[in-house]
Parts: sequence; C-alpha cells; structure tokens
Amino acid sequence: MEIEQAVLPGQHKLIPLPYAYNALEPVISANTLRLHHDVLQKQAVDGLNNAELNLVEARRNNNFDLIKYWENELAFTGSGNILHSIYWTIMSPVGTGGQPGNETTSQIINYFGNFPAFKAQFSSAANKVEGSGWSILTWQPTWHRLEILQAEKHQNQTQWSGIPILVLDVWEHAYYLDYNTNRDEYINNWWQLVNWKEVETRLILAMNGQVSLSI
Ligand code: FE
Repeated sequence: MEIEQAVLPGQHKLIPLPYAYNALEPVISANTLRLHHDVLQKQAVDGLNNAELNLVEARRNNNFDLIKYWENELAFTGSGNILHSIYWTIMSPVGTGGQPGNETTSQIINYFGNFPAFKAQFSSAANKVEGSGWSILTWQPTWHRLEILQAEKHQNQTQWSGIPILVLDVWEHAYYLDYNTNRDEYINNWWQLVNWKEVETRLILAMNGQVSLSI
C-alpha cells in the first residue's frame, strides 16, 4: 500500500484537470469548465488553506471565538475541493468512459436490484436536491455496501469522504436530564468517558479505508 503524506494546514493545491478544457464538449463547454475549475474550485482551495491556517492560529492563541465561522469554512471549502476533484476524474470525453466494471456492476445489482433502478434513483436524487448540491454514490464502509445520498449545501457541516473516529452527541436528549442546559459541563465531564483503545482501533481501520464493524 502506498504511504500517503498528510496534507499540512494551508498546503492544499488546485489539482489540474485531467484533460483539456474542451475535452467534455458538447456535454460541458470549455467556458463552463474553465470557470468551474480555475475560478470556483480555486476559491475553494484558497478558502480551505485560509480556514486551516486561521485554526492553527486559534489553537496557538487558545481563542475559539470564531470557531463556528471557521468550522463552516472548513466544511464548505473542504467538501468543495474534495467533491470537485472527484467530479473531474469520474468524467472523461464522450465515448471513452467504457462500461461499468465487474465490482461496480455487482455492488450496484446487490443493493439497487438492477442498473436502470440505480440510474433512475441517482438521477432523481440529483434532480431533487434542494437548491445547490450533489448526488453522491457512496461506499458505506460501516455496512459494507453502496448508498445514494444527496448533499444539500455540502457545507452542512462535513468534509465528504471523511470517516468518523471520535464523536460527541450534543443533542439535548444526550445531556438535558443530567445537566439541564449546561452543555459545557457535559462536554467537560464527557472527556473522562472516552475509550481511547477503541478510538485507536477506529483510527487504524480508517487509515486502511475501513470502519470498525463492532456496531
Ligand atoms: Fe461545482
């Protein structure tokens, strides 16, 4: 397995398109591609670097006054960058894309029943995204199968392709009976409960592209 280098804060680069600007014509014009990649994705890369560097600064100064703003920026620009990079590479010039491969076909049929049903659901999900967003065929490692999901406003509040390692439920039902409105006290106390052995297991699995199946 190839050893991947961690991308340091603020070090994201705009990945070049894997084809010429006019390569996807007549389906997508060179003008659209130029704007979409060179301007919009570039803004996402710059915004992501900026958010990460500001959070380095926030950690250094222990000043999290703008945490909501920078977390939203991380999610918006991080997802924008990741999803666009995938979007470019899962397209190729008309007539060159071939047929779905063996594993793709078998996983699609296993879960969606048949290819036309998958295609209909994917298109329909895309068509019905409220406002801006994406239709995403995702591998769900927790359940070892595909799923189709809509990402309405991809900044809400994730970086797509991330695998959860450590999670803290701050819905009211998780602490109201014990702490009333004092979420802060619940969070402070919660750290005493963390099972670091399980966190380590989940991290190592995730680094191999897997999730713990002990759920
Ligand atoms: Fe886009």
